[in-house]
Formats: sequence, structure tokens, C-alpha cells
Amino acid sequence: MARGPIRCGGGGRLKIPRGREDTVNHDTRANAKQADDEPVTVHVVSHTHWDREWYLPAVRFRQMLVALVDELIDDPPAAGSSFLLDAQLSVIEDYLAVKPEREFALRELLARGALEAGPWYVLADELIPGAEALVRNLLLGRQMLSRLGAAAPPVLYCPDSFGHPAALPTLAAGFGLQLIVLSRGFGGSRWPSDDAVRWAAPSGEEAYLYHLSRKGYDIGENLPADANAARERWASMRDDLVTRARLGVVLLPNGADHHARQTNLDSALAALHDAALPHDTRGSSLHAFARDAIARAATRALPTVQGELRDSYGSMWTLQGTFATRAHQKRRNARIERLLTRDTEPWLALAYRSRGVNRGALLRAAWRSLLLCHPHDTVCGCSTDEVARAMDARLDEADTQGVGLRGDALLDLIGHNADAARESRDRWKPMAVVRNPAARPRGGVALLRLTAFASDVKVGANASPGPVETVKATVPGLGGVGALQLLGKVMAHERTEAPRHYPDDDIVLACDVAAWIPEVPAYGVRCFPHQSRSRRELLPNPARADAGGISNGIVTVSVDDDGHVRIAHAPSDRTLDDCLVWDNRTDIGDLYTPSIRDDKLVARFRGSTVLHKGPVRAAIEMRWSFAAGRERVDATVTLIVDANASFVRVHLSGDNGASDHRLRLGFTTGLKQPRVFADAMFGPVQRERLTLTPAEAAFETPPATDPLHRYVSVFSGNAGATVYSDGLGEYEADEKGVVYVTLVRSVSELSRNDLPERPGHAGWPTHTPEAQCHGPFAAELALLLHGARTDAMVDEIERTADDVLLPLTGTSLRSALSRPEPILGVMLYGTGLACSTVTTSQDGKWTVLRCVNLTEAAQQGAWTLDTMVSEARLARLDETSLDTLEAIGNRLEFAAPPRAVITILIR
Ligand SMILES: [Zn+2]
Repeated sequence: MARGPIRCGGGGRLKIPRGREDTVNHDTRANAKQADDEPVTVHVVSHTHWDREWYLPAVRFRQMLVALVDELIDDPPAAGSSFLLDAQLSVIEDYLAVKPEREFALRELLARGALEAGPWYVLADELIPGAEALVRNLLLGRQMLSRLGAAAPPVLYCPDSFGHPAALPTLAAGFGLQLIVLSRGFGGSRWPSDDAVRWAAPSGEEAYLYHLSRKGYDIGENLPADANAARERWASMRDDLVTRARLGVVLLPNGADHHARQTNLDSALAALHDAALPHDTRGSSLHAFARDAIARAATRALPTVQGELRDSYGSMWTLQGTFATRAHQKRRNARIERLLTRDTEPWLALAYRSRGVNRGALLRAAWRSLLLCHPHDTVCGCSTDEVARAMDARLDEADTQGVGLRGDALLDLIGHNADAARESRDRWKPMAVVRNPAARPRGGVALLRLTAFASDVKVGANASPGPVETVKATVPGLGGVGALQLLGKVMAHERTEAPRHYPDDDIVLACDVAAWIPEVPAYGVRCFPHQSRSRRELLPNPARADAGGISNGIVTVSVDDDGHVRIAHAPSDRTLDDCLVWDNRTDIGDLYTPSIRDDKLVARFRGSTVLHKGPVRAAIEMRWSFAAGRERVDATVTLIVDANASFVRVHLSGDNGASDHRLRLGFTTGLKQPRVFADAMFGPVQRERLTLTPAEAAFETPPATDPLHRYVSVFSGNAGATVYSDGLGEYEADEKGVVYVTLVRSVSELSRNDLPERPGHAGWPTHTPEAQCHGPFAAELALLLHGARTDAMVDEIERTADDVLLPLTGTSLRSALSRPEPILGVMLYGTGLACSTVTTSQDGKWTVLRCVNLTEAAQQGAWTLDTMVSEARLARLDETSLDTLEAIGNRLEFAAPPRAVITILIR
């Protein structure tokens, strides 16, 4: 949240019925107001907006929540009306964690609609989490609600999220929801002025959008019971509610952030009823409003809007300045989301298909840890330091669970028996298990951690403390691998675990290597035996370092004595001089809104060193420092060129010892006044700068920055460039073609009321010194130079995202008893088709395959599976099966309309 001023700062191609239509772009207005004399129906729905954690931690808000829900159970809402628990099941989960004995009473109220909750598990931010996280969020919410014997109102209810992605109607349609209710992000002067429109996703799927009052979702809090006061209150709301009422039906939420139900509700409703005549106000439910609104929307002409909803400037704070607040947490969240969706779920699904082990429940537990980080005040970072620390702990848990599940599934897949291995140490045949977390076959550069035995470690009181045999560990070679280059090594403990034994602890030489390996099947696994030496093959376009810099013949990177970085790209004959630029400026903003001022610290180049000389990876390390007075920032930038790669990796690590500033790294692409396309939910969106009136800008000034998922591309003429980020969530693409990525934002107040960019408090003022983000920071970025935006280029940018973010990778399995044949996985064919998910359905009966057509053209696609497919269905995002698909052996062909999200269930 935030209110007003503080207002909670803070598949299936479902078509909705349509009356006459007109399509409205963001910049035009279409008005067809309710005639002033036509009475409207006002559904008054009591609710609370429940930020699970914000200016207080979750456990403190839970104490208030328990009192609130207890009241509702003891004195349920009157027949025909409900109390809305903010459309999220985590509220109910939190209540039942304290009062499990009241589950029966709660179920009864949910079942008869006196209490309403769902469809979300948590009311998530929608611009930071990825599409699959939002799908998991809704799946979990629905599953929990159905266990409680209830169903959610047929509404994607998003009362407070700080803006909405262009593909949200696809998410709604994929869960059979025809109506989206929201407030922030819509309602600015560039949108139609009425309260109801059709919202079309890039895929063409549509939802009805109902916009809550431009004054916020708390417009109806504490309705007065006194007749005069009720008349005054109605007069203050009337214009906003009635004049905009396109459907003749209005939702008036009665409540606000963390508000319990108001005490004299019956008399307040009676007073409002009289004050509002001839309009029909009534105590109601979100279910009833939704039924009424959907029925009327189907018969009325509505304007259609498209694109992201990130513009409520002039009416309600849009709050688009949080994408780099506590930036390291966004980065970690993105990396763990990617771990779960792309590098855990597919292995679990494949292991289940081939070995019959279903870890679905454990997977949901991992997701639950991560999803509890996604409420808007949590993942946006605009909460207290205690809340941020709670998020860190959940990220740790989600990461540990994801890595653990992946490891177990991979051992299943290769048929490894841990107990048998533990019992026969003399038969160990160490090998590297290499996995390909992409839905196409890949060979080439793999990043591996290989371990070699040095000595055994005894643990426990009965273990002999005497000397242990130690061998001189050497870097292992790998059979069948073309080249192996050592990047770093360290002595470490490694434990071999087995279900029926203590771990076997060894000291090992742990080596990080870059290897050139033969092709690994799509979502497949291939194992390479350790041996004394690797053979040395000639690589295509090997990486090397010399006095001129590092190069693989495709890209060449050099650093001069002053730290200027030059990148030359042979295929396009382009050279970027001074390609990397620092931007460090004072930021006197708060956790919601940057307030950027003058330059702060000046970067000083402290020298460069060649770190790796090839042939698989070449790298130069640059050292920088920024200092003034007692403030200091140190940063190491490593420029990396891999054999045969057309992109350059830019890895950063640093230490932030400065306050009240923003540190960014800029990529100078040379593409002036570019068109900007940024990766977002279910595919890239084009971004343009808004032009605001002075009055709108005085109410809230939009930041020049935007949300960043995996990449942002800029295009001008026949040239383009794409910057990739492994999780930092904010970029700015300026008119000169510089693409900045924010590395650190240092601020220390939850909310300030003296910012010209957003006058007034957006949250309850709290000192948050840990949001200065002192200490280590890191990023893994990359730059790809390329041509104009064609379907083939969209495809290449997406594939490169996998190469950058999900490279071939693997680890040693020293306890292997045998070496398996390559494991075949799942492969996706089709230009511009991106793999979104490979997982097991919630009911455990199907494998779910989902891809996204990133292009504006229809594409023919196909999946091939590891085994024969006996049955296949097209499905919605919520796994509801639709049409039957014909499989030929292990191959499934499908048509993907422009920008479509195609979900297929197979078994
Ligand atoms: Zn909120």
C-alpha cells in the first residue's frame, strides 16, 4: 500500500462478449457517460486492503488480522452482503495459523459467500514478478480456496498494485476471469475518462476493466450514519462514481488499508441509501458486483484500451519508482524465479515422467516461500528493514528448496541410487553431469564446477582423530570434452548424502571451469567421465587475450589506460567507443520515489588485468573506485568473451560505502532516439515516454526509468542492441541511445513528504537505514549488438537470453557408479516461440508445456517429447483442458497466433 495522500502507496483464447466497440489508443479519449438522470446501482462491498507486511512486519499485522476476522466470524455480514478479505488467500492462511480451531466456522462463511477471498495467493506486484510466478500465485490461491470448499469472486482484483502489465488480460482469460478491477495505473487524462473499458492484451485476449474511483479504493471508508453527513459524503463521491459509470453499475468499496469492518455499517448503509436516491445503493458482495458488471458490459459499447497500465498521473500516484529500491532483493528474486521455472520444474517434470517420482507438493512449498516475497510492498522494497530481512529469509528458503529439488530430480533422471553409491565407495566413477536448461539442443561453452578428492573428513565423537590419507588433488579432465579451461579453484568440503546414511564428508579441490562440450539434448542431460586429461580440439572462434584486448573474432573488447571500453562487432562492422559509462548521482528520494540530483561521486579507474586468456573464455577485469570525503564505492567490472559467442558478458561486483545516491552502469549503443522494447510478462512491450501536463507532473512526476525483466532492446535504422540483466530490475534508455541499468539505490526513508516528484507521504514515515544498501552489490549483464527488429531478430534476442542467463552447466558427481546415456528432454520448434514452462500439472496427471509467440505474426510450432505422447490437449493457463490435439509419436504440432500464449497438456 500507501493512503491518499497515503493510499496504499501504496491458453485458451477466451473472448468476452462485446456490444458495439471502438478502439482507443492510450492518447485518445472516448466518452459515453451515463446520462445524469439514469439511476446507477451502487454495490457497497465492505473490505480491508491487507498489506501483509509494510510499515509493520507480517506477524504484527497478523495480530490485527486475527481480531478483524474473529469479529466477522462472531458477527457475520448480513445476508446478501459480504466482507472481502482483499482477494488473497495468504490472509486466511495467516489467520488459520493462529486460530486453526476456527477453520470450520471460516469455511462456512466462505462457502456461503459471507466472506470473500481469492483468486490470488498474495496480492502481488505485477510488474516485477514474471508471468509464470503470477500463474503460480493464482494456481496456489485457487487450490487453497477449493480445499476450503469455496470459490473466488470471478474477478482479477488488483486494488493497489503499482501499475499493470500489458498481458494481464491474458492472465485473467487464462483463469476464466472476464473482469479485472484495479485502481493505480489507469485514470490519467490519456485514458478514456469512464470507469469501464475493454482491455486487450498483445495476444488479442480481452477482459473488461473496471476502474475503482480515481480517488482510490478507500473512497468509501467509514461511511457516516448521520443523514446530513451522508448527504455531504455522497456529494463528494457522486461525480467520481456516477458521472463515470459506463455500465450503470458501480463498486463502492467500504474500507481501507488494514481497516476492520466499520461498527455502525447498517445505519451507515441506510443513510447512504437515502442520500443517494434515486441511485440504488446496497450492501453487496464482490460476487454480486461482478455478475452485474459482466452482464451489463456484454451489452454495452465500450472503448478498448491496450498496453501497460502505468499512467494514473494527475489522479492517483502510479508509483513507478520502486524498481531499484533494495535492488539486490529484486535481483535475487528474479534469479530464484528463473531457477524454479526454467531450471527446476522441467527436471521435476521429466523425472516424474520417466521415474514416477512426483515432487509437486515440495515444489509448491518452494513457490510458497517465493510468492510470500511478491506482495507489492514487499518485492517493491517500500517496507521497513525488518520486512526486508524477512524477505531475505524467504528468498534463502526458496533458493535452498529449488536447488535441492533440482539436484534430486537430476539424480532420479540419470538413475543414480544414493544409498547404493554410499555403500560402495570403492566403485565410484566420478563424472560431470551437464544439463541443458533450454528447450533446444545446445553445445559449446558450459560452466562447470568439478570436484576432485583430496582427503576424507571424519565427523563425530567416535571418529578417529588420527591422520587421514591425503592425495594430491589435481584439476580433473573430462572425457569427450573438446577443451577445458580452469577459471578458478579452491579447497572445499563436499558431502555425499544418502537417505539411510550419515553424509560422507571429503575435502575436495573444487574447480570452476569453462568447457567446450558436444551437443546436449534440449532439456537434456549428458554425463562426461572424469579422466586425467581432456583432449584439445580446435574450437570455432576461440576466445583469446592479447595486447589489443580480448576477442573471439566475432566481438573484440579492449580497455585503454583511462578505462575506456571499446567493443567492436565484426558481423555488423560496428564499433562502440567508450561503451561503458558510469552514472552516479545524489538521490534524496524515499523507497517509493527517486529524487535524483547532481553528480555525486566521480569514478576513478584503477587499472585492468587480463583474467582469462581463452580458449573457451577470455576476460579482462577493470577496477574502479568512487570516493569523496568518507564515502567510497569500489567496483570491479569483468568483461567476458566466450568462444563463438556474439555477446559480451559484463559482470560487476562492488562494495557500496556511500549514502543517498544512485549508481548506474550505462551501455552506449550509439543508437540515437531509439525505439525501445523491453521484456515483460509474456513477451516484450514497446515503451515510450509520457508527456504530462504541468499539473499532472506536479502531482507526481514519472521517473525516466522503467521496469526491466531479462532484457531491453533499442533499435534505430537497421541496427539494434540488447542489454541483458540477470535480475536487476530497472533501466533507462535515453535519447542518445545509452541504456542504463541501476546497480544500487541508496535511500533511508520509507516515505518523505517533501519530494517535488511526489509531494506528500506515500507511506507511514519510517527510518530505513538498511535501504542504503551498504556493503556488497553485484550484477551479471551482457550486451548483444544486432540488426533491425524482425521476427528472426526477436527470436535471436530470446535465444541469446537463454545463453546469457541459462547457460549449459553442471557439477561433478563423484559417487556415480555408472555413466548413463544422454537423457532426452523436451524440445520446442518455431521462430520466435519462447519456452515459458515445462512442468507437471497441479493434479499430477499431465505434463504442462507452455510457450509464447513473441512475434506479431502467426507461427507454426512443435514440441517433441522424451517419450511417445498418448494424449494431448490445448489448455488454459489454469490447466483447464480445451480442445484435443493430435500427437504424432512423440511430436505435437500447433499453430500459434500472433503474441499468443499456448498451453498444452500431454501425457
Ligand atoms: Zn497495498
